[in-house]
Amino acid sequence: ASRPFHPDDTRIEIRGHVVGGPEPTLIAGPCSVETREGLLEIARAIKRSGAHMLRGGAFKPRSSPYSFQGLGEEGLKYLADAREETGLAIVSEVMEPGLVPLVAEYVDVLQIGARNMQNFPLLKAVGRTGKPVLLKRGFSNTIEEWLMSAEYIMAEGNPNVILCERGIRTFETYTRNTLDLNAVPVVKHLSHLPILVDPSHGVGHARYVTDMARAGIAAGAHGVIVEVHKDPSQAWSDGNQTITLEEFDQLARQVRAIHQVM
Ligand code: PEP
Ligand code: MN
Repeated sequence: ASRPFHPDDTRIEIRGHVVGGPEPTLIAGPCSVETREGLLEIARAIKRSGAHMLRGGAFKPRSSPYSFQGLGEEGLKYLADAREETGLAIVSEVMEPGLVPLVAEYVDVLQIGARNMQNFPLLKAVGRTGKPVLLKRGFSNTIEEWLMSAEYIMAEGNPNVILCERGIRTFETYTRNTLDLNAVPVVKHLSHLPILVDPSHGVGHARYVTDMARAGIAAGAHGVIVEVHKDPSQAWSDGNQTITLEEFDQLARQVRAIHQVM
């Protein structure tokens, strides 16, 4: 993952869009895949706003075992249907090594969640697929540890790693996490891998998401991943930090405008 071994920026082509390329990467979708119709509606709207990929969790890492855990394979099928209809690439989380082959069958990008950033057997398993991996930073992990986790994936022969800063734990309580924008220029200095920001998990409140998406791009991020829903108050998970389809349309315009002057 280190610059000295690979001076040129890594570019990863996914369904015609190049992550780390000339256009900022826009990934949006619900925290969890819910109903098929609801997902298709979100997919159509974000596509119109210029998104490149649809996100949505089918296997969810919930803090409580009694919270909704995701639709599992059924959710992956809905995501594949949305790709079929819109052409959007699909990003979804995989939580266990044993499920990597199944999730890889459906998605274009395998997401490794913050809680699994140092699940080394899982990192090796996604490394063996050769599929693009969105590697989220653990909320208590250093940049050094994060880059080492990228190394675990790459050491299996998979160079297609996209880093994602999603906020770290600090003493602050007004926000869910603290989006560590310092990480963006630091990672770009140390590594050739593309880096996205996730302001949704980074701040935890919908009202701050667009501001921090803009800030992430201004700091040099190659794109953003955000949680969107037709009616955030009805979302099955992370509704508080989820923006509306209209807000996403605005966010996408602003992100493109800022990226253009970078
Ligand atoms: C998510 O993307 O919905 C998610 C669970 O993210 P993180 O792993 O960053 O908490
Ligand atoms: Mn979420």
